[in-house]
Amino acid sequence: MGIVILSLKMIETKETVKCFRDFSESTREIIHNNLITPARILIVSHKNPDGDALGSALGLGGVLESMGHQVKVYLPDEAPDFLKWLSGYDNVGIYEKSASKFPGLEDSPDIVFFLDFNSLERLGKMEKAVAELSCLKIIIDHHPGNLPFYDYGIVNTAKGSTCELVFLFLEGLGLLNQLNENLSTCLYAGITTDTLGLQVSSSYSEVYRVVGLLVENGAEIDKVYSSIYMQFSHHRMQLLGYCLAEKMILMPEYQVAYIWLTKEELSRFNHIKGDTEGFVNYPLSIKNINFTVLFTELEGEIKLSLRSKGDIPVNEFASLYFNGGGHRNASGGRCSLSMEETLSKFESQVKEFMTNFLKL
Ligand code: 5GP
Ligand code: MN
Repeated sequence: MGIVILSLKMIETKETVKCFRDFSESTREIIHNNLITPARILIVSHKNPDGDALGSALGLGGVLESMGHQVKVYLPDEAPDFLKWLSGYDNVGIYEKSASKFPGLEDSPDIVFFLDFNSLERLGKMEKAVAELSCLKIIIDHHPGNLPFYDYGIVNTAKGSTCELVFLFLEGLGLLNQLNENLSTCLYAGITTDTLGLQVSSSYSEVYRVVGLLVENGAEIDKVYSSIYMQFSHHRMQLLGYCLAEKMILMPEYQVAYIWLTKEELSRFNHIKGDTEGFVNYPLSIKNINFTVLFTELEGEIKLSLRSKGDIPVNEFASLYFNGGGHRNASGGRCSLSMEETLSKFESQVKEFMTNFLKL
C-alpha cells in the first residue's frame, strides 16, 4: 500500500488558511505516514448535503477504502432523492437516524476528514459528537472564512467545488489509479452541481483538466445529468411555476428579487427534500437582478438560500444578518423569526446593504 506523494501543493497547517502555498516536508510526511498503514477513518460533511458534499465524501471514502482503510462516511441528515443513487450512499451513516455515536466505527477514528464546510455548526446535531473526537483532523474545502478546528487544511476558496480539491489531493498522493468509474462519477457529480454545469466558478483551465481525467477514468456524464436533472416529480414543476408566477417579489431599484414559501405551500405541492433546489437561480436570470433569495419555512426556522452575480457578497450579508455564510455568490442562512418578520427584516437590511453597495 505504498503511497507516493508527488506534489501535495495544497496542504497547510492551521496557521495559514489560504491555499497553494508551499508546505513543509514534515506536513507532507504526517499525512503520508497516517495513510500508509490501515487506519480507521471517519468522513463527515454538512447538513442538507448537496452534490459536492456527498460526491466528495463518497469519492474520497471509496479511494481510502480501496487502499485498505476502514472508512465510514457520516452525514447529519439524508441526501435528497436525486443524489441517493451515487455509489456508496447505501453505506452512509445518517446521524439523525442513529441512536448511538457513529455506529459502524467500532472504536473512535484515527483520522477524521471534514469535507465541504468550514464551521462545525454546519454539522447540526452531529456537531457535539464530532467536536469531542480527538484524532488527526483534516479539512478539504472551498468556503472562505474558516475557523481553525482542524490540524491540516486543503483549502482553496478559488475552487468551484470540494470534489475538485479531493481530486487534486488524490492526484498529489499518487492515488488516481484507485479512482474507478463509480468514484469518478461521484467526484464529477460534485463538480458539475457546484458549478451549475461548469458555468460558474470554473473560469480557469484546471477544472477542465480534472473533468477530462475523470471522464477518462469512467465518470458517467450522461447518468449524472439524467439522474440529477431529469427525475423530478410533476409536483416540483408545478411548485416552480407557482413560485415564479405568484411568489416572486421584485425590488428592481436594489437589483433584488426573492421568493418565499410557507410550510403550507410546500405541503400543498407534496414537497420532498430537494424539490426547491435551484429555484433561487431563476430570478437571477432576470436582467438587472443581481441578488436573489429563496425563503423556505422549515421546522422551527426559515431557511435562506442566497445567490448573486458579480461582486455582491451574499455570504457577508448572510453572516451579518441571517446566521449563515458560504461563498460570495452562493450562500445560505437561517432565521428563527416568523416568515412575516423574516421578510420584513430582510427587506430593510437588503435596502441598506444594496444602498451601500451600489452607492445609491
Ligand atoms: P444553498 O443555498 O444551496 O443551501 O447553499 C449555498 C451555499 O451556502 C453552499 O455553499 C452552502 O455550503 C452554504 N450554506 C448554506 N447554508 C449555510 C449556513 O447555514 N451557514 C453557512 N456558513 N453556509 C451555508
Ligand atoms: Mn461545495
